[in-house]
Amino acid sequence: MKNISIWKDIESKSYPTLDEDKEVDVLIIGGGITGISSLYHLKDSNLKVMLVEQNKIGYGVTGNSTGKLNYLQNDLIDKIRKSFNDDTASKYLKSQIDAINMVVDIINKEKIDCDLVKVKGILYTNKVNEIKKIKDLELFLKENNIEVNTTYNKLVQSKYMIEVDNTYLFHPLKFIYGLLKNNKYPIYENTSIKALEKKKDYFISYTDKYKIKSKYVILALHYPYFNLPYLFPIKGTLEKSYLSASKYSGNDVSIISYSNPFISIRTYQDKLIYLSNSHSTSNNVSDKHHFEELIKKLNGLKLKPNYLWSNIDIITNDGLPYIGEIKNNLLIGTGYNTWGLATSVLSSKILSDIILVKDNEYVKLFDPKRVNISQVTGSLKCAYSSFEGIVNGLADKNEKVTYDEVDGKDVMIYRDSRKHIVNHKCPHFGCRLIFNEIEKTWDCPCHGSRFDIDGKCINGPSNHDIGI
Ligand SMILES: Cc1cc2nc3c(=O)[nH]c(=O)nc-3n(C[C@H](O)[C@H](O)[C@H](O)COP(=O)(O)OP(=O)(O)OC[C@H]3O[C@@H](n4cnc5c(N)ncnc54)[C@H](O)[C@@H]3O)c2cc1C
Repeated sequence: MKNISIWKDIESKSYPTLDEDKEVDVLIIGGGITGISSLYHLKDSNLKVMLVEQNKIGYGVTGNSTGKLNYLQNDLIDKIRKSFNDDTASKYLKSQIDAINMVVDIINKEKIDCDLVKVKGILYTNKVNEIKKIKDLELFLKENNIEVNTTYNKLVQSKYMIEVDNTYLFHPLKFIYGLLKNNKYPIYENTSIKALEKKKDYFISYTDKYKIKSKYVILALHYPYFNLPYLFPIKGTLEKSYLSASKYSGNDVSIISYSNPFISIRTYQDKLIYLSNSHSTSNNVSDKHHFEELIKKLNGLKLKPNYLWSNIDIITNDGLPYIGEIKNNLLIGTGYNTWGLATSVLSSKILSDIILVKDNEYVKLFDPKRVNISQVTGSLKCAYSSFEGIVNGLADKNEKVTYDEVDGKDVMIYRDSRKHIVNHKCPHFGCRLIFNEIEKTWDCPCHGSRFDIDGKCINGPSNHDIGI
């Protein structure tokens, strides 16, 4: 059994680390699907563009996802209907269909071999009190000219199940590596931006050793490492899920549950990918317990995991992503509510259209500076969630981890054949880290930063390592 995502179990190209100062028109920070598709959308411009990635291209949230292109997104449409109104939810739905079509068009145009499969998208509930909610959603979809049918699938116990057409499955890393096939712009891996300074009409982004001067900065880094001025920690909470891939033979399927605790299932070649046990990173923090629960569910289906991994995404306060300009020439694309694989490709089109001064119908809908009542009430929830993360991080006890002091620093130590000593606090917000025994990572319960066993940062918002 492998403790990595099934998508990462392929050959991939490596890129150099930045070794000199640079000056460009557009700096893209982050090499996930948002960053790589931003490179793609800017490819025909006359601009000088470059991308930096603090770890490895695609190894963030993108490489740990379930790889579905789906507009039937759990209860998200209902959340948007509640936060805003039916008109906004219809616009969001349209954006998702446009985004999926955009991805499929790019795959066809660029002849990207990313195992694209068209399947019916299935949504179900096993709770009686949610039947009406799904029926309401069904009506809403039909009002938006989407064909919906009731259906049945034996992989889950369901009280009510619907399906829609024109949803897809793909391999997210093969997709972004395919986007890079004819890329002409420089890419740097293991290059982390530690600070960003706004000068009069340009930015200076700092790595440990070098400076990058640029007119525009695209923050494609999932969760910004800086708190001010944008105050990202009060714009959304973090949701962690546990995933597996097991040997399976059966027809292609794509299934999701309506609400938490979320279940998401899909096939990939001779495997069944199964996601469960989603929770806020700040509560119920024991990863081991969640992986055990997931394995129990697999046992119920007579499956054994060949791959196990976890993943974290941002759940925004009002259900819409944050895409656009947050300050003059500083742009962001994030907050996709666990549905970012197609949204990110649309997102980077919006960002590139803003830079190239082209109209885009979605600029207003996803404005990252929007303020509404859900944002205000949600920010209180976010503040509480950070506090809960601090408390639960401190309370978590793992008998395999010991705590000590080295050179006046509080450290945590995990021993296998070696001693792994790391700083016990997350550099982002100071929350105490928790050891994830299955993936052998140090995970932050507050905002989802992750570090490998020796403390190298593998997931933001932190942009610093914690090794001693
Ligand atoms: C369990 C789970 C399952 C999911 N499944 C699906 C799905 O089936 N379909 C779907 O549509 N969506 C899915 N999603 C959501 C989707 O995966 C994400 O929304 C999307 O991948 C986000 O892409 P990104 O490029 O914005 O972020 P990332 O892929 O995380 O990329 C950001 C990159 O920025 C880098 N970075 C961060 N800070 C810095 C810095 N300071 N300097 C340099 N680089 C930096 C990171 O290392 C990272 O590589 C899922 C999410 C989860 C949690």
